[in-house]
Amino acid sequence: MYVGISPYEGPNIYTLIPVVSQLYGLWHLKGGMYSFVNAISQLIVEFGGIINTGADVEEIIFLNDRAIGIRTSQAIEKADIIVCNADFPYAMKNLIKDEHYKNDYTDKKLSELKYSCSTFIIYLGLRKKYPQLSVHNIYLGENFKNNIESAFEGNLPESPTLYIYCPSRIDDSMTKNEGECLNIMLRVPNLFFNKITWDDVTINELSNKIIMELKRIKGLEDIEENIVYKNHLTPLDMERRFNAYGGTAFGLSTTLTQTNYFRPHFKSDKANNLFFVGNSLHPGPGVSLVLNSSKLVTEEILIESQNKD
Ligand SMILES: Cc1cc2nc3c(=O)[nH]c(=O)nc-3n(C[C@H](O)[C@H](O)[C@H](O)COP(=O)(O)OP(=O)(O)OC[C@H]3O[C@@H](n4cnc5c(N)ncnc54)[C@H](O)[C@@H]3O)c2cc1C
Repeated sequence: MYVGISPYEGPNIYTLIPVVSQLYGLWHLKGGMYSFVNAISQLIVEFGGIINTGADVEEIIFLNDRAIGIRTSQAIEKADIIVCNADFPYAMKNLIKDEHYKNDYTDKKLSELKYSCSTFIIYLGLRKKYPQLSVHNIYLGENFKNNIESAFEGNLPESPTLYIYCPSRIDDSMTKNEGECLNIMLRVPNLFFNKITWDDVTINELSNKIIMELKRIKGLEDIEENIVYKNHLTPLDMERRFNAYGGTAFGLSTTLTQTNYFRPHFKSDKANNLFFVGNSLHPGPGVSLVLNSSKLVTEEILIESQNKD
């Protein structure tokens, strides 16, 4: 259920995730994941780094088997080393224009790879507390197998299985009022299936279906009348806002032949000062593995710079 694959098809190593969570518990960052982003940003600035935001990278520029800079929507920036965190297949297709530097990841090869599912999320602000909820809740819909597999067949589920995240149960900083904030996540097909139009009709139908399902949970019967804020995120948002290739939630799927070492590697074969981090790469998807991928890249860059000195 965790890494955007069907629980009936994924390698069973992933059952370790719920086991570890149950045995050792989970950490919650006060203020949510964004407080981690803020902490890292602060550290970078304290070390004298500069963070530029608001400019899309449009191309990685190469010369004589080296990456020499990037072209953004605002300027051309020169660089000694480039670390690309945009989703790897998106970067190969869009940011690297010259076939020579795509390693083996040509458009044809990208189209042959398998990709994880996407998600549809509704965000709710509620006027009152719902002590029936835990921080993490998994609601299993009827006919679980058919419905959980529908995302991998290109269809929306009839009876959704939901992940309901309610951080305000343990963190008051998540809400400004006395109520709760919820993020309710449903697995849906990625955009490669091309079967679903993510317009207002689909979004409203799906949101209503989710809210009807929530109202069936004991203690949540009055949830609809206590909504003070509502928003959503679709696979199209994932693609348009974050350049997630095919709008996937976890990038390249973790099938056996695309897991761990078999994923794309973090260093370009053609330009040895170009590195990649992120969830479509080795070692894999999810926040902790993505952080590991950046640790591996950092260590490699440090080793290389020590060897040069
Ligand atoms: C709904 C949902 C729930 C999840 N839940 C969990 C969970 O509970 N636990 C867990 O471990 N993982 C979870 N994940 C997965 C996890 O969020 C991802 O694996 C992880 O964030 C991927 O990190 P990344 O750095 O590869 O990509 P991202 O976090 O997407 O970072 C890439 C960044 O690059 C930026 N970018 C892209 N293209 C450009 C460009 N051309 N120019 C400039 N910037 C660009 C994007 O805007 C983005 O900010 C979840 C994912 C989703 C979608």
